[in-house]
Amino acid sequence: MSAVPTWAQLVYLLCAVGFILALKGLSGPRTARTGNLIGAGAAAVAVVLPFVYLDLDHLPLIIGAIALGSLGGVLGARRVQMTQMPQMVALFNGVGGGAAALVALLELEELGHVPSVAVGTFVLVATAFTVLVGSVSFAGSVITFAKLQDLMTSRPVVFAGLPVAFAAALIGSVVLGWLVVDGVALWAGVALGVMGLLVGVLLVLPVGGADVPIVISLLNAFTGLTVAAGGYVLGNVVLLVAGTLVGASGTFLTLLMARAMGRSVPNILFGALRGGSTLGAGEASDRPVRSAGPEDVAILLGYADRVIIVPGYGLAVAQAQHTLRELVELLQARGTRVDYAIHPVAGRMPGHMNVLLAEAQVPYEQLVEMDEINGEFKHTDVVLVVGANDVVNPAARTTPSAPIYGMPILDVDQAQQVVFLKRSMRPGFAGIENELLFDPRTTLLFGDAKDSLTKLLAAAKAL
Ligand code: NDP
Repeated sequence: MSAVPTWAQLVYLLCAVGFILALKGLSGPRTARTGNLIGAGAAAVAVVLPFVYLDLDHLPLIIGAIALGSLGGVLGARRVQMTQMPQMVALFNGVGGGAAALVALLELEELGHVPSVAVGTFVLVATAFTVLVGSVSFAGSVITFAKLQDLMTSRPVVFAGLPVAFAAALIGSVVLGWLVVDGVALWAGVALGVMGLLVGVLLVLPVGGADVPIVISLLNAFTGLTVAAGGYVLGNVVLLVAGTLVGASGTFLTLLMARAMGRSVPNILFGALRGGSTLGAGEASDRPVRSAGPEDVAILLGYADRVIIVPGYGLAVAQAQHTLRELVELLQARGTRVDYAIHPVAGRMPGHMNVLLAEAQVPYEQLVEMDEINGEFKHTDVVLVVGANDVVNPAARTTPSAPIYGMPILDVDQAQQVVFLKRSMRPGFAGIENELLFDPRTTLLFGDAKDSLTKLLAAAKAL
C-alpha cells in the first residue's frame, strides 16, 4: 500500500488524540455528550482522510458502500428503543469485526503476490489473527443479537458434543492459522474465517440471556483487538490506536460488569457447560403478599422524611422516568430528602439507569452509586423500588445456589418500609423468587410503572 504522507499521519495522530479525549469524556455523565461528539468527529475525519491523499480505485463502489452503511446506522440508531440498545451495540460490533476480517482476507490476497521473503512473519500472524478473531466476533455478535431480539431462545443452548466441537474448532483454527502464516494461502485464510464463525457460534450458544450483555462487551474487546491487528497489517496508525482503545475499554467493561454481578468471566462463558448456569425463566409466585393502592403509598411517602428510589429494568420498559422525576420533585418541594440509588447492573446495559434518568433531566447529584448509598438504607423511611428486582434480592447474600449469589446488592431490606412497583409476581431476569417481596415491611403496588406512578403522583398532589 502507498505511503501515508507526513501531514496525513499528523491528522491521524490528532484523530487518535480525539478518540482518547472521547473516552475521557464518556467516563462522566456531564461530559459524555461532548465526548461522544469528539469521538464521532475524529472518526469522520479519519474516514474522509484517505480520499484526500490516496488515488483510490473503485471510488463509486466505496462511496456507495459508505452511504449504505451510514443509512443503515442512522436509521437503526434513530429507531431503536432504549431497552434494545444492547442488541444494537452487538450488531454494530459484529459488523465491525466482520469488516476487519474481510479486509484482512483482501490483504492476504495481495500478500500472496509479493515474494514470500518480503512478507514479514509478524504481518502474516496479524493477518491470520484479524481473520480469525474478526469472524469470531461477527458470528458471536449475530448470535447475541438473535438471543436478545428473541429470534431464538435466550436460554443457554448446550448439546452433548459441544465442548468437543468447541475444542476441535479451536485446534482447527490454530492449524489453519499456521497454514496462513506458512503458505500465505488465500484458501487457508477463507477456511480460517469459516472456522472463526464456528468458534463464535459455539462460544456464545451456551451463554444465558442475563449474561449476554457481558459477552457483547467481551466480543467488543475482540473486535478492538482485530481492528488493532488490521491497523498493523495495513500500516494505519489510527486503526491501531482506535482498535487498542476499544480492546482495552471492552476488556475493562467486561471485568467490571462481571465483578458487579459477582461472577467470573469463565463462569459466564462456560458455566452452562458445567451445569451450573445462569438463569431460568422463573415462575410467578402465588404466596400471599401485602398490596396497596396508590393512595396508601402516597400517604406512606407523605409521612416520610427520607426516601430512596431504586430504579430498575421495569422503569425503562414502562418509560416512566419523567413521571418518576415529577413525583420526586413534589416530595422534595415538601421537604422530603430523596435520592436515587444506582446499582451498576440495574437494567440491561451498563449505565442504563444513568442514561434513562439523565433523559428525564434528573440532576446528576441525586444519582448515588451503590457503595455510597448502601449505608443510608438503615436511616431511610421508605424505599420505592420501581421496576427493579434482582438488584435488591437478598438471595444474592443468603442463597449459595442462586444464580445471583455473590452479586453485591442494594441493602433495601434494611429500610423501615419498602414499596415495590411491578406488574405481577413474576421474578426478575435471574428467574428466582425475591424473599423481600414477602417481608412484613414490604408493600406491593401492582401495575405498569408508568400507570402506577401517574396515579401515585395524582394521589400525592391531592394530599
Ligand atoms: P430485573 O430484571 O431483576 O427486574 C425487573 C423488574 O421490573 C421485574 O420485577 C418486573 O416484574 C418489573 N417490570 C418489568 N416491566 C415493568 C413495567 N412495565 N412496569 C413495572 N414493572 C415492570 O431488573 P433489575 O434492574 O433489578 O436487575 C437487572 C438484571 O439484569 C440483573 O439480574 C442483572 O444482572 C441483569 N443484567 C444487567 C446488565 C446491565 O449491564 N445492566 C447486563 C446483563 C444482565 P413484572 O414482570 O412483575 O412487572
